[in-house]
Amino acid sequence: MSNHFFLALYDQYWRVPGSSLSLAVDTVRRFLRADRGNISKAKKRLEETLKWRIDVQPQTKMCSTCLNEDLRSHYMQHVGWDKRGRALVYSDIGMARDKGHKSNVEHCIQVLELMEPILPPFPNDQYIWVVDFHKFSISDMNPKMAIACLKLFGRSYPERLGQMILVGAPRIFNGFFRAVSPFADPVTVKKVRFIKGPDGKGGGKKFDLVVNEFFDAETKAWLVAEMMENRLRWKDLARRKSWLAALITADGTRHGWWEQNTKRKSKFNSEAEEGFDEDKLAPAVLSEHGHDIRGCPSFIQTEACVRMTNFAIQHSSRGKLTNLLVCKSAKKSTAVPVNTETDRSGGTALQG
Ligand SMILES: [Zn+2]
Repeated sequence: MSNHFFLALYDQYWRVPGSSLSLAVDTVRRFLRADRGNISKAKKRLEETLKWRIDVQPQTKMCSTCLNEDLRSHYMQHVGWDKRGRALVYSDIGMARDKGHKSNVEHCIQVLELMEPILPPFPNDQYIWVVDFHKFSISDMNPKMAIACLKLFGRSYPERLGQMILVGAPRIFNGFFRAVSPFADPVTVKKVRFIKGPDGKGGGKKFDLVVNEFFDAETKAWLVAEMMENRLRWKDLARRKSWLAALITADGTRHGWWEQNTKRKSKFNSEAEEGFDEDKLAPAVLSEHGHDIRGCPSFIQTEACVRMTNFAIQHSSRGKLTNLLVCKSAKKSTAVPVNTETDRSGGTALQG
């Protein structure tokens, strides 16, 4: 590695609290791995990423669509770890109500940034992405969204994606996948695996075969519970799930009780001032067997989940639809007082 190359970049861009020489070195090594040691290519990619980080400050941003438009806009979150300690990101395409490519990229950045500070050292400094396709439809085949996400991964989060496991993908997805693949890094495309759903539907290898390879019994049980619940109770339960509401109220087992509030956007602010009255809202729908959508029981106790909770609460107090939930959660949240923005500032892009 060229020390001169690294130090020049470090001096130029990375004068923010929380950064360190070792984090910077790890990041440069990761970018060099992505370009197989080609210094000029890695330099270009890293310069673009650092410029973007300085301009956008992605580590301080939360998805504005989830905060202000619908608490169920997106369903993509960090929920656990694989056997090697790599982060497990879970998303369900059909449960995401918002199909806009810019807003989905914004949510994607939020998920990736929240993981950056807590990823383990190389070679496990990656995530494994499980995507459930059970309600995938024509409206989800937006090439702009797929290409924007793939470019984001390639440019600013190289070598972070360990595996992408597509669960229960229907036949109509095959053509779409072939169409967008040329826009992705070939290394990324090789990391994609297709498996059937836990109900045996969709294309690919057997669900148990692949899931047993990557996840322990607890994590597999969470994935099966989540996926089967979304298949068997789509209308009355799955469509009422909100990861954001679950996080800021520290309860991922009860769903939809806040729904009427979000429908009365015009009244929302005045109601917030008067205080929250849960009795006026629709009754909660309970997950099967206490299944918590925030992740495995052991994951909910970890620093990663506490960080996400604090980050969500911090931003939700300013969200049009979420400020009321924050008032309610203040009484019961178990989150510890961590200043997420301060802790995460600067160091995120430079973590290896
Ligand atoms: Zn979102």
